[in-house]
Amino acid sequence: MKQTALVTGGAKGIGAEICRKLATAGWNVFVNYYTSKPEAEALAAEIGGTPIQADVRDFGQVNEMFSATGPIDLLVNNAGIAYYGLFPELSLQKWRELFAVNVDGVFHCTQCALPHMLREKRGNIINIASVWGMVGASCEAAYATTKAAVIGLTKSLAKELGPSGIRVNCVAPGAIDTDMVQALSEEDLAAVQGETPLGSVGQPRDVAHLVEFLASHRARYITGQVISPNGGLVI
Ligand code: NAP
Repeated sequence: MKQTALVTGGAKGIGAEICRKLATAGWNVFVNYYTSKPEAEALAAEIGGTPIQADVRDFGQVNEMFSATGPIDLLVNNAGIAYYGLFPELSLQKWRELFAVNVDGVFHCTQCALPHMLREKRGNIINIASVWGMVGASCEAAYATTKAAVIGLTKSLAKELGPSGIRVNCVAPGAIDTDMVQALSEEDLAAVQGETPLGSVGQPRDVAHLVEFLASHRARYITGQVISPNGGLVI
């Protein structure tokens, strides 16, 4: 029987490519979206998956989503937002907004996915963090801090849930060509490319291949790891 995956923020960017790759590998995929309904519906039709709406900030909506999907074998916590600006100009509201999506969202979805995984004594959680959560980032303090929190949660849950047969890993990409990176100025983007030994930003498929591997039985002995597809930007 097909195993079931749910990818948050699956309608576009990195999430969409993860959905495609998992579907190709034989997973039954739920494509979570918040605002990108047409994209989610088109992608679900393309891959034979199911679109499902929920704002990951809202525990009630996330709970309803998991009631609708039924048991999930693989949760990919991919939904995320970024913000670029100097720290003294960072408002508390913006700080909390980033935490609500990037950290609370992961908390809500993981809480809802776990009861089934714990009953079954198997399951797989993959959190999409960022290379900036590993090394910090000037002008992205809030974003980097949320992603560092996701890395901390990944490592803690890997220790707590390993004895229950549940693997928890983190993928921490460098700059990947999506709408999120389009928000950077041309100069900033050129600077990132210049600092990247492989000389370019990555593509969503560079992340998706890794997620599909971590989701597979080939990665059965890998848990608690932070793996960073980043073109050598951080070594
Ligand atoms: P993106 O194209 O901007 O996509 C962001 C996704 O997050 C969208 O699908 C969006 O859903 C979803 N989302 C935002 N708020 C949400 C909410 N409240 N509830 C549910 N979903 C929500 O960005 P991306 O580059 O693909 O980013 C995907 C992940 O990779 C993020 O966690 C990001 O931090 C991480 N990442 C990206 C890069 C990069 O360079 N691109 C590097 C490192 C890490 P809707 O469109 O449906 O609203």
